[in-house]
Amino acid sequence: MHYNGAKASIVEVAVSDLDGIYRNHTMAAYDLPRPKPEVIAIVRDSLVERLGPRISTAQAIREQHSHGEGLPAVGMPDLVAFPENNDEVAFILALCNAHRVPIVPFGAGSSLEGQVAALAGGISLDMNRFDKVLQISPEALDCRVQAGVTREVLNAHIRDIGLFFPVDPGANASIGGMASTRASGTNAVRYGTMRENVLGLTVITPDGRIVRTGSRARKSSAGLDLTHVYIGSEGTLGVITEIQLKLSGVPESIMAAVCQFPSLEGAIGAVVTALQTNLKLARVELLDEVQMHAAIRYSGLDYFEVPTLFLEFHGTPSSTREEVELMQTIASDHGGGGFLFAQRPEDRNRLWKARHNSYQAVMALAPGKANMGTDACVPISALPACLLETKADILASGLMAPIVGHVGDGNFHLGILFDPNDAEETARAEALAFRTARRAIGFGGTCSGEHGVGLHKIVHMETEHGEGIALMKSLKSALDPNGIMNPGKIYP
Ligand SMILES: Cc1cc2nc3c(=O)[nH]c(=O)nc-3n(C[C@H](O)[C@H](O)[C@H](O)COP(=O)(O)OP(=O)(O)OC[C@H]3O[C@@H](n4cnc5c(N)ncnc54)[C@H](O)[C@@H]3O)c2cc1C
Repeated sequence: MHYNGAKASIVEVAVSDLDGIYRNHTMAAYDLPRPKPEVIAIVRDSLVERLGPRISTAQAIREQHSHGEGLPAVGMPDLVAFPENNDEVAFILALCNAHRVPIVPFGAGSSLEGQVAALAGGISLDMNRFDKVLQISPEALDCRVQAGVTREVLNAHIRDIGLFFPVDPGANASIGGMASTRASGTNAVRYGTMRENVLGLTVITPDGRIVRTGSRARKSSAGLDLTHVYIGSEGTLGVITEIQLKLSGVPESIMAAVCQFPSLEGAIGAVVTALQTNLKLARVELLDEVQMHAAIRYSGLDYFEVPTLFLEFHGTPSSTREEVELMQTIASDHGGGGFLFAQRPEDRNRLWKARHNSYQAVMALAPGKANMGTDACVPISALPACLLETKADILASGLMAPIVGHVGDGNFHLGILFDPNDAEETARAEALAFRTARRAIGFGGTCSGEHGVGLHKIVHMETEHGEGIALMKSLKSALDPNGIMNPGKIYP
């Protein structure tokens, strides 16, 4: 079934109907065969000979690499490798490919959809020692980094030369992990996602070839775009070891603003009008009244508990002033008001505090509950209808699920709170997450704007991509014929 473009009747799915769907997809991934202990022993001995103490079988290290963040999806690797250069990665992959031993690349482990769980055992390939910024070119506004460099380290490195790397998932993720999940964040409405900010890669294939994709040119029509085959592939096609990135200049003037609205319709309507007016928003984040309640309670802030937009404008002093004035008019046409502004970095940080601490604030709202964070994205024109239907669905579900959104991209998250020890409540939370994803697909959108598929979103892949899944599987088997790369993820 393929709902793209059509209104999805599947959103009426009952809680009980989902049990089979989730079990079939999720348990199938957990049922993958693991390599035999004697095969692991052969591979371990060869790896220890080459990498010495940078191969670990310690229980604590394996456990640390058995899961990411978010809902539990655990798969213990048999061992963890800490390679330091391309040749070592190529050696590990070729060895594992010859012995059919799974490999799960591991960046910062901050992914939310079960991506790093070693469902079939094998090797967790920790990329943290790939921590060098290899080259920076302020003239070309680009740089080349190793995959384990985190976005905060990169930004600290280039701050003094007036540059920044704009893609900002909330966590301090690795650039390799971000490329592999096609990550984005609050700045994407102005600066794009990893898709737009990566120019090229160095990739190690499962048979141990070291391949450079793309170039430093801003565009190219020379052949298939291999770079973007790997971006978003979640470690299922090969290992990324180096990334060529675009950089941006730190704007001369940055103005942050907060604006509150009496209704969700008003807040979303203002964003849609602003985008249709071609207003150059650098950030626009929506927090609904439940999320604002959590934020105010958690950080002791002086806001009203109503839907709120957090905005940022980048440019020259005169352009930001003009954009702010236009946004004020648009907001007021949609019932918004009470604008607060901040320009100095410390004031901007204070203003954005409610947004930055949103995850911790939600967790503090209901101690003991788990947070099923889910992410969906729709065309901006469909955002009002999709968000309002989702809000009604949350109320009908009887669950607490604050909404936070990078709404300038049509992207929003629910933090569905539920008691993991209560099977009925867990099923209701799963059903709400399921309907949210299917509703987004029905509106011509996607089940994930930025968190990726991992294990938890496999159930939506055929619905979203239809025949496209067969092509994805063909690519997977062409590039990883023995299926050693991150088995059990993405492909149904
Ligand atoms: C509080 C919080 C907020 C978040 N907010 C956002 C957000 O706003 N936007 C967003 O996009 N994400 C968000 N995330 C999710 C997460 O930060 C991103 O998915 C991030 O891109 C993961 O990077 P990582 O280095 O942690 O990768 P990991 O979790 O280590 O790995 C992610 C996937 O990439 C693969 N991988 C990692 N490194 C490599 C490599 N070198 N080569 C090949 N494959 C590799 C792994 O096998 C895995 O499949 C958030 C997470 C948290 C905890």
